[in-house]
Amino acid sequence: ASATAVAAATVASTTAQWLRDSPRFPAFVAPGRPRVLVVTGSSPRRCSDPDGEHLLLRAFKNKADYCRVHGFDIFYNTAVLDTELSGFWSKLPLLRTLMLAHPETELLWWVDSDVNFTDMLFEPPWDKYAGHNLVLPGSEENVYTIKSWIGINAGSFIIRNCHWSLDLLDALARMGRTAPWGDKTFLESSYCLSGFWAYIVDRFEEMRRDSTTPPEPGRWPLTTHFMGCKPCGGDDSTYDAAWCRRSMERALNFGDDQILNLYGFKTLNTTAVRCVRNDTGGPLDAGDEELGRLLHRTFRAA
Ligand code: UDP
Ligand code: MN
Repeated sequence: ASATAVAAATVASTTAQWLRDSPRFPAFVAPGRPRVLVVTGSSPRRCSDPDGEHLLLRAFKNKADYCRVHGFDIFYNTAVLDTELSGFWSKLPLLRTLMLAHPETELLWWVDSDVNFTDMLFEPPWDKYAGHNLVLPGSEENVYTIKSWIGINAGSFIIRNCHWSLDLLDALARMGRTAPWGDKTFLESSYCLSGFWAYIVDRFEEMRRDSTTPPEPGRWPLTTHFMGCKPCGGDDSTYDAAWCRRSMERALNFGDDQILNLYGFKTLNTTAVRCVRNDTGGPLDAGDEELGRLLHRTFRAA
């Protein structure tokens, strides 16, 4: 056997052994409900635009809110773990390191710093991915027929903590063009795992107006990804900076409103908030199904 295959077998058996020895850290927290670690990060350097730091903070708060609501762990990285793989390549060595260090994590969900959650209630359909190791935002048509450059995206993807994934990360890190994907990859187009921001940001008012109570899951784009915007500075922004900035603010407020609403407040699309409910009588009696689900999560099966 090759050295890589031997190393692979060793890691696999060590992981299996660790899980057997650590019943308090199961990879599934309930039947059909995998333990999920959301992974994100940004450059170790300061933004050249000071406003960028503020946006990064708000974008991180958005992810922390989403993770708390759904009971996911979150890891924020600012280190360059491999000098050869810096910038947006840094997700590869990071994911690999986290997979090895956290055998209890079944799925890792990479989320770019410029991906914001805009549906705080929706949770990916985990059971649908049981036979797959990699879930990428995309559709067969856009990827294989139209071959659209925005047909696939690595800004938000879900990857299983398993040997196939470690091998894939190794192959990608070597920029191998022959990555063994095949059936183990799932192209997800039934919801916005990575929603292109320019198609979304002008529709928030319309979406809110048209939503029903209680809302049906998947009503709003799960994420709004500001690909091509460079809020932290740099000259390689594809889009007008003021348009990016304004749109980010709108997406962040849209997500934040869903959280503030749990506590009886709403934003006014500014930093000011307004009280919309008098909840002081019995905050634990939240009868509304949506509020109850967001405030008091239960580890339901997928
Ligand atoms: N990133 C990082 N460290 C860096 C630079 C980037 O962790 O030094 C991450 C960050 O989360 C960023 C992602 O890599 O969102 C991908 O870059 P970007 O979002 O700028 O690319 P785009 O989506 O615009 O193509
Ligand atoms: Mn991005």
